[in-house]
Amino acid sequence: MVIGGGLAGLSAACALADRGVPVTLLEKRPYLGGRAFSFPDAESGRHIDNGQHIYLACCTAYTGFLRKLGVFERTTLQRRLRAVIVDRAGRRGALKAGPLLPSPLHLLPSFLVYPHVSIGDKLRAATAMLAIKRTDRAKHREALESETFRNWLERHGQSERAITALWDLLTLPVFNDTVDAVSAYMGLMFFQDGMLASRHSADIGVSTVGLTQLVEDAASAYVQARGGEVLTGRSVTRIVAEDGAVTGLIVDGEFTPVDVVIAAVPWDVLARLLPPDIAGDDHINASNALKWAPIINVHVWYDRPIIDEPFLAVLDSPLQWVFNRSHIEGLPGPGQHLCISVSGAWEHAGVGRDILRELFLSEMASVFPAAADAVVERFMVVRQPNATFRCTPGAQSQRPAQVTPITGLTLAGDWTQTGWPATMESAVRSGVLAVEALNADLERSGTWRIAP
Ligand SMILES: Cc1cc2nc3c(=O)[nH]c(=O)nc-3n(C[C@H](O)[C@H](O)[C@H](O)COP(=O)(O)OP(=O)(O)OC[C@H]3O[C@@H](n4cnc5c(N)ncnc54)[C@H](O)[C@@H]3O)c2cc1C
Repeated sequence: MVIGGGLAGLSAACALADRGVPVTLLEKRPYLGGRAFSFPDAESGRHIDNGQHIYLACCTAYTGFLRKLGVFERTTLQRRLRAVIVDRAGRRGALKAGPLLPSPLHLLPSFLVYPHVSIGDKLRAATAMLAIKRTDRAKHREALESETFRNWLERHGQSERAITALWDLLTLPVFNDTVDAVSAYMGLMFFQDGMLASRHSADIGVSTVGLTQLVEDAASAYVQARGGEVLTGRSVTRIVAEDGAVTGLIVDGEFTPVDVVIAAVPWDVLARLLPPDIAGDDHINASNALKWAPIINVHVWYDRPIIDEPFLAVLDSPLQWVFNRSHIEGLPGPGQHLCISVSGAWEHAGVGRDILRELFLSEMASVFPAAADAVVERFMVVRQPNATFRCTPGAQSQRPAQVTPITGLTLAGDWTQTGWPATMESAVRSGVLAVEALNADLERSGTWRIAP
């Protein structure tokens, strides 16, 4: 059985289905998607996401999963990275991948004319990028995990302006945290495996439909076609184990005998499900080690077009990244639906709607001239206090492996050891790793083995 219908649970269930296992997935909520979900919006007749999600071309497990389900075409992926960045004075720059040069030189032409940092900062940033490219992350893991990315960047000559207008511009949306909090190890991971891995690794993709719509029916059908089932509205309250092996689950108050379980729930939920004698084990219970970071999304429906890009970043502003949902979803005009995605949103998470409305609408009006004259037809705030786990120094070694000390129980979830930050990619990878761990676990205990 798989507990949890987020991307980790769905990935695990589909991987089991691929191996001919008649898997049952239990999801507490009435819909699938987990922290990447969408909800129907009666007023617009569309689905709205709990938060704008993007993926990069280097997220190969996630894109492979969407392809397997036959829904990749319902997302749009840039042919080449292009991200427009404006400042509060209206100056525009872009980070673009050139068509010919190999990485990291592919970013150079756009970087040379990038208006938001000085020539000196550009030279120092280029030197730091080369240092990132050359660093053997695995070899220096302990040292890199013991300092913040800011510390590393400062040691490599980065000014405050370069940190704001370049490094944090990319680090904040990816980690939902600034360079002040992210470990140097994970900061380098993103630039090595994402931004600089190849000419196409950082091309940006988004779903053109709601996130639940994207995977829900396709994943359920995939599992069902292979003899399994996906059940929503089923809450697991306890994993039961005897003599170090899983014997069952308590589902909606009833005991269900089962000897193989993949728990694909967040770490704080898992802590409540674990058998009491194992709940204190730090190798499996990460409650003392991992912390949540919040995201808020501010939706504004204007009566006219405000931005001409599918998305853009705003420097030195609470707006951070603005997504043009009308463009992404191909909605007819003349109005425009924008989604302002605010990462690391501690400052705004508990603030009332009216104050946020005043703050974000006045900021929009001062950055985008069209917004100053436009009529706001609708305004909505979507808050996700527990959006992602924090990749602070030391956190990587505290992420449990998929294998557990209990025979028949393995873990999945973006927060387990995948090497990735809290992303859809990490979730999908964890599901596959959990199935592999389960196989190894069952083989070791002499029970049985799932077909390869
Ligand atoms: C606002 C926001 C923006 C984000 N932006 C991005 C982005 O741009 N790009 C990106 O890659 N990632 C992004 N993420 C992160 C991404 O959504 C997560 O990393 C990923 O969805 C986690 O998947 P998961 O399956 O590991 O966990 P979850 O999605 O949390 O899945 C766990 C599931 O278990 C279920 N469950 C819990 N308790 C029980 C129980 N007792 N019984 C049964 N089921 C239970 C839950 O309902 C849930 O469906 C964002 C997240 C948020 C919240």
